[in-house]
Amino acid sequence: MPHLVWLRRDLRVTDNPALSAACANTGDVITCVGLPDAQWQSHDLGAPARNLYQRRLTPLTADLCALNIPLLMLDGATFADQVNGLQALCKHHGITAVYVNREYEFNERARDRAVDQALAACSIQVHWFDDQCLVPPQTLKTGQGGPYSVFTPYRRRWEASLREEFNAPLSAPARRPALTLAPARLTAPDDPLAALWPVDNDSIQTRLERFVARPLDRYQTDRDLPALEGTSSLSPYLAIGAISARQVLHAVLQAAPHALDGASDANTFVSELAWRDFYKNLLVEAPRVSRARPFKVTTETLPWNPPGEAFERWCQGQTGVPLVDAAMRQLNTTGWMHNRCRMVVAMFLTKNLFIDWRHGERYFMQRLVDADLAANNGGWQWSASTGTDAAPYFRIMNPVSQSQRFDKNGDYIRRWVPELAAQDAKTIHAPFDAKAHPIGLKYPKPMVDLKRSRQQAIDTFKAHQQDSA
Ligand SMILES: Cc1cc2nc3c(=O)[nH]c(=O)nc-3n(C[C@H](O)[C@H](O)[C@H](O)COP(=O)(O)OP(=O)(O)OC[C@H]3O[C@@H](n4cnc5c(N)ncnc54)[C@H](O)[C@@H]3O)c2cc1C
Repeated sequence: MPHLVWLRRDLRVTDNPALSAACANTGDVITCVGLPDAQWQSHDLGAPARNLYQRRLTPLTADLCALNIPLLMLDGATFADQVNGLQALCKHHGITAVYVNREYEFNERARDRAVDQALAACSIQVHWFDDQCLVPPQTLKTGQGGPYSVFTPYRRRWEASLREEFNAPLSAPARRPALTLAPARLTAPDDPLAALWPVDNDSIQTRLERFVARPLDRYQTDRDLPALEGTSSLSPYLAIGAISARQVLHAVLQAAPHALDGASDANTFVSELAWRDFYKNLLVEAPRVSRARPFKVTTETLPWNPPGEAFERWCQGQTGVPLVDAAMRQLNTTGWMHNRCRMVVAMFLTKNLFIDWRHGERYFMQRLVDADLAANNGGWQWSASTGTDAAPYFRIMNPVSQSQRFDKNGDYIRRWVPELAAQDAKTIHAPFDAKAHPIGLKYPKPMVDLKRSRQQAIDTFKAHQQDSA
């Protein structure tokens, strides 16, 4: 009787708990994967992330074939269809047990409850595993037994728990006896971002090794400088599970054995992995954030401006604020944006333009190659001051000072906003503020007065807070 592994956001053969558990049996093992396009579109998952996922299936099939494990396609454009598809697949192949790594988003969890019921009705056992996080959601609770809503104490407990127990990643399962079942024929999508974001194991592994070997020892400073490659750029691969967070932490600990023991460059990097777990934990502890609702319910009724043309200019990188425009153009061109710039553009949208964070969140999901509900929602709600452990509403990043501080020479701006290439390091951050007015400059004037709009946002938040007290 064959065992079935249903692959979702765990597109790898190494360090895959569900796959390893299925392979611990003597019977045949087959795998399946779905492309629930209609569902993904309803989640605003755009082409960059969908293409990455689909492209990854080609090397994954090859890895599985080398182990004599076929990968089949699971029917279903929606999650509801997938449940039926899974039942039919199990019936067709006489499956007695299914192995799955969990997903934590609201609709994904509802689908998985339906899977449990549907397969139990056919006497098929489902074995669930946690693989996405270093510490699975709901493992850590506050002293009062409640969920964490503040990052720093969560991170302390998270690090302590990893110091107590951190298992090395699992090896790929051993090659199995030959199977006659052929894998599904896959067609790779035509993806303009394919060269930027290769999906083969060697490229992903090289990215990790290069990062651990070099910028990791300067991470604390370099991670904030968008003109440098100071971060790992592993987020797209972590988002689809082409590499696990455990594999990343393991590599870091090999290079920096004290990375879990307090302040260091490596520890700062590790704390980014803690943020990742923190936001996934939140999806389970406060499921409303999966459903376009703010964590702080009092912010539900903030009087946001309608998106309109202002939103379009923000999307296109035509705001007249150089760092914001550089960042939005980087996103539109590469499917990725530097973390500091994500915070800057999100604050600009939600505070200076006072546009509802959900518009920005949706645009990011549509454009990011690393689109991930937990991290994206967490980042947007942090920036909009509506989330757990969010930036206080009165602490608003000024995109010009951020630019002067973190892109001092203007190299990042010059790369993405060629209209400003001739500006010197002093004027490039705010060309229209310069004494010598740049006549003939084909670049828009700032669409909003940064000082005034900042004060308006603070006043509105303050008044709203008093009203809802
Ligand atoms: C408004 C906003 C939206 C964001 N949307 C996403 C998203 O859709 N997908 C996504 O993966 N990250 C998102 N982030 C978090 C962060 O910007 C990216 O994870 C990071 O820039 C990816 O680059 P990297 O892999 O080089 O990161 P590194 O600095 O190398 O960090 C290593 C890994 O840690 C995780 N990580 C780092 N920072 C964060 C963070 N603040 N929150 C959660 N996880 C983090 C990522 O998995 C990342 O790959 C968002 C942040 C903001 C402010």
